Amino acid sequence: MVRGTIPRQPAKTGRHEGPRRTLKPSPPLRTKAPRLNPPLPKSGNSGAPRYVKKYDPLAPERVNQILKRLDERYPKATCALHHKSAWELLVATILSAQCTDVRVNMVTPVLFEKYPTVQHFAALKPEELEPDIRSTGFFRNKAKSVVGAARKLASDFGGEVPNDMEKLLSLPGVARKTANVVLGTWFHNPTGVVVDTHVTRVSHRLELTRQESADKIEQDLMRIIPRERWIDFSHQVIWHGRRHCMARSPKCAECPLENLCHAADKTWSTVEIHKAAKP
Ligand code: SF4
Repeated sequence: MVRGTIPRQPAKTGRHEGPRRTLKPSPPLRTKAPRLNPPLPKSGNSGAPRYVKKYDPLAPERVNQILKRLDERYPKATCALHHKSAWELLVATILSAQCTDVRVNMVTPVLFEKYPTVQHFAALKPEELEPDIRSTGFFRNKAKSVVGAARKLASDFGGEVPNDMEKLLSLPGVARKTANVVLGTWFHNPTGVVVDTHVTRVSHRLELTRQESADKIEQDLMRIIPRERWIDFSHQVIWHGRRHCMARSPKCAECPLENLCHAADKTWSTVEIHKAAKP
């Protein structure tokens, strides 16, 4: 026997072993393949896919809510500067730059007692007016503006304050903010939105604008606020900025706009904060 060769033996079962068969591979187990793009959840009964809407701070329903709540909280908001005529309001508004309305209201009664008409102011040299308005700050520039405006009104407009934006802007020291105050408050003429420090701050916090300059902020606000609301909106936002939405430590817990506001510097919030929403 050749070494290493093992003779084939009959199987103990009595059956001869046949040739080796190749086993057929069993079919793979059927498992549920994961979906690469799961379908969006269905909404309500309609069966239509529900898409998450991108937040739009200028959405008309949001803006309307802001206007409604401002109306409810400040139904009688108006200009805080005391005045009895368009001229007195114009002077008071010029004096209110970088000064509180309370201070201006202390200065103007004495001033108008001393100089009752436009012509009285027009006859002054600016230096003569300076001592009377000194406490309002920036008194040299303000004296030039008031006397310059009085002279222009006396020479070109018969001593009357015109109900016209372009004419008002031709007066020394009068920019759109002052013109809007006079036109809106005295003439009830909605020519624009008053943009002062309060309107700027609140509009930024509420994400109504991202602009920095007063003119561009006003343009944005005029686009999203209905014209018939421009005058009230201006007064209401100024009141809101003074009473709740102060520059430091705004009173968010008492604010009627709280759940519509995502300002980054809120002191209390029930909604998510938007880092870019800041003064
Ligand atoms: S919630 Fe706060 S930051 Fe926002 S508008 Fe109101 S007071 Fe201003």
